[in-house]
Amino acid sequence: MIKVFENFDFSRVGQMQSLLESHGIKTFLKNQYGSSVMGEVPFVEVVPQLYVLDENDLAQAKQLLQLDLPVEQPAEDWVCDKCSVKVDGTFDRCWKCGSDRG
Ligand SMILES: [Zn+2]
Repeated sequence: MIKVFENFDFSRVGQMQSLLESHGIKTFLKNQYGSSVMGEVPFVEVVPQLYVLDENDLAQAKQLLQLDLPVEQPAEDWVCDKCSVKVDGTFDRCWKCGSDRG
């Protein structure tokens, strides 16, 4: 059993599990109920972890996980059409007038 993914966000780990399972890769989810025992065990013990059962699937699993990871792109600042203020690229709406990015 090989660990391929871990994340404090359980839904993210679950997402990855269904992704792998949909490609016929057998997986195992550890610490699925971690949040319910939070505080009773060391924090590091309750990070939901995704394992691949068969190491022959490892390469494919890693590839799938990589494809699905959001690509970090430096968002460029943009200028609002309506009020001409500069808006941080991480936002899709003008912080001043609320209009959508043009
Ligand atoms: Zn605006």
